[in-house]
Amino acid sequence: MNAPSQATEGVDWARVRADFPLLQREVHGKPLLYFDNANTSQKPLPVIAAQDDFYRRRNANVSRAVHALGTEATDAYEAARARLAHFLGARADELVLCSGTTFALNLVAYSWALPRLEAGDVILISRMEHHANIVPWQLVAERTGARIRVAEILADGSLDLDALYRAMTPEVKLLAVTHVSNVLGTVNPVREICREARRRGIVTVVDGSQAAPHLKLDLATIGCDFYAVTGHKMCGPTGTGALWARREHLAAMPPFLGGGEMIKEVSFEGTVFNDPPRKFEAGTPNISGVVGLGAAVDYLESLGMANVKAREAGLLAHATEAMQAIPGLRILGTAADKAAVISFVIEGVHAHDMATLLDLEGVAIRSGQHCAHPLLQWFGVTATLRISLAFYNTHEEIDRFIAALLKARRLLA
Ligand code: PMP
Repeated sequence: MNAPSQATEGVDWARVRADFPLLQREVHGKPLLYFDNANTSQKPLPVIAAQDDFYRRRNANVSRAVHALGTEATDAYEAARARLAHFLGARADELVLCSGTTFALNLVAYSWALPRLEAGDVILISRMEHHANIVPWQLVAERTGARIRVAEILADGSLDLDALYRAMTPEVKLLAVTHVSNVLGTVNPVREICREARRRGIVTVVDGSQAAPHLKLDLATIGCDFYAVTGHKMCGPTGTGALWARREHLAAMPPFLGGGEMIKEVSFEGTVFNDPPRKFEAGTPNISGVVGLGAAVDYLESLGMANVKAREAGLLAHATEAMQAIPGLRILGTAADKAAVISFVIEGVHAHDMATLLDLEGVAIRSGQHCAHPLLQWFGVTATLRISLAFYNTHEEIDRFIAALLKARRLLA
């Protein structure tokens, strides 16, 4: 393996890594090696500081009080919405802030799909969806009589695009597809997919959970109807995220939850709802979390998403090459366009046993079904191991991981 370059367009990755205090800790007496970033990312100091500062100096509820603190808190909250919108290439008034992708996808299911779909309609989803992009559609199908149709994948873990387009028949009202697979790392060509769907009058929902932390996004050019992101995978706090939607959908959709803030006027005779996006933001939101998310997107933008992508591509190439050289190790998902996620199985080794032994070496990786049972069934496995890398991981950590993997395999053999 060639000595990897530590710099990408002038970014000092060692300094960047030092922004993440948690990465300095030890686990079981060993330096932590955190390779579970697709599950949740670690948080840099500016994000931690933004939340700390909010509670120390600006804490108040938003959109209610006229006092100075209330105004400051509201300004900070709305500034974070604007920053996230800028990061995504979207308009702030098209961004519903919520607790994460799971909420965002359910919002589309309950407010857009449930009132519109009926018996005979089809919801098209891909084989590689996370349960958060399967189960809400099943719930809608159960209630409306619509059917679920599955778009299959090819052996390398890419979507079978020909089959997908053939499956876009006139009964299909909605297509739900992930931008990047959390198991395979496959980056789906969502722009092309959404164009094909739109030509056929199919509304598109893209799960961007695993894309937003790693790719430069421009929702205006993707051409989808809905796009969901989750803050905790993009260096932001847990319990934050957003649904982006075209304005015409937000205007037409009924609210999902009722309560304070989502109204203009309430009487016992009826309620006049607030304008979108507030129509969908009932109750007190995760204010400090959203402020932290604003700091997270500032942080990612300061690195440059092109640099993040290039850095992670280098890490992925290094890890893939090293893992492919291990006899009996099989990588699931080898699509040409891949994010830095590697799911794998090792002959004769149970994934949880391996993950447990690795943990004793300070190595945090995921084992199991990754909330994607139908995908694992397709591959004929009950569990996989998964490493998912972030820009703050290092080439040296990959070498340490490989050594720990080989050691654990000898113990399990
Ligand atoms: N979709 C994908 C592809 C994911 O990886 C995840 C998180 N593992 C989710 C949806 C759900 O995200 P959250 O739990 O943050 O709502």
